[in-house]
Amino acid sequence: MSEALLQVRNLKKHFPIRKGVMRRIAGQVRAVDGVSFEVGAGETFGLVGESGCGKSTAGRSILRLIEPTAGQILFGGKDIRKLRKGQMRLMRREMQIVFQDPYASLNPRYTVRQILEEPMIIHSLFGSPTERQKRVAELLETVGLSASRMDRYPHEFSGGQRQRIGIARALAVDPKLIIADEPVSALDVSVQSQVLNLLDDLQKQLNLSYVFIAHDLSVVKHISDRIGVMYLGQIVELGESDQLYENPLHPYTQALLSAVPVPDPEVRRERIILQGDLPSPANPPKGCYFHPRCKDCMEVCRTQAPEWKEVKPGRFVGCHLYD
Ligand code: SF4
Repeated sequence: MSEALLQVRNLKKHFPIRKGVMRRIAGQVRAVDGVSFEVGAGETFGLVGESGCGKSTAGRSILRLIEPTAGQILFGGKDIRKLRKGQMRLMRREMQIVFQDPYASLNPRYTVRQILEEPMIIHSLFGSPTERQKRVAELLETVGLSASRMDRYPHEFSGGQRQRIGIARALAVDPKLIIADEPVSALDVSVQSQVLNLLDDLQKQLNLSYVFIAHDLSVVKHISDRIGVMYLGQIVELGESDQLYENPLHPYTQALLSAVPVPDPEVRRERIILQGDLPSPANPPKGCYFHPRCKDCMEVCRTQAPEWKEVKPGRFVGCHLYD
């Protein structure tokens, strides 16, 4: 892997559960519970798991849009959890986010020009209105939209076009890293691949790094260099995308992958149906968090949490099957 631009170490985000008139803390929701991974310059790291597994909370915690409970987030070698507000604001220029819902994430009262100018104004870039307008036109062309539409409102665009505007807004301040939080899951399947191709092209042109968050392994497959599979606030398997698809090690990854359609009619993959729902992160099961749903569960899994092991160079798994 190229030199790590982002290093996330043992990241935790716990939300207190308050009860009673005194609002005493009665427990913790362990939404993110010790997540570690790295992303190199120009690399895409896919973070995958069922909804509610903590992947979006991890993404927001990395940007400090919500304050992490513990852990280290190094960006370009700097621990961003130690930055003060003003320093963090400067750092945000380098780390942007694209949200899942292009309908909700764009201000409906702003024109596209205003939406794209806003981050430039916040970060004091492209000082004059003429320079900003030139940059807005450039950004729209970059994401495949006509600059002539900059004075239109978000509702005048389709879902895919709105997500392109969201991407243009993230690019407006010239970031090095984009956290793409389920950027295509609100879009029609026919439009998804266009937006994925756009993200891929932009990465090549601008040497961007992505943390690509998705609930669907088929979406992250082509865009990710490496993938981390998340379950109940923890990464349970991590490895290069091709290896993970060819030979998933963790029973949870195997179940997720078994649901991904294979384009080759000769290849048949047995569908593994996951039993039950994702347990509550406020009250995770003892031992391996996955054991109540695991087809390979052994006695040890009910009482002892598996260790995180590197089973091959760059290939990690947390499962007693590999002890
Ligand atoms: Fe299944 Fe045990 Fe591995 Fe957990 S540790 S995934 S329960 S085999």
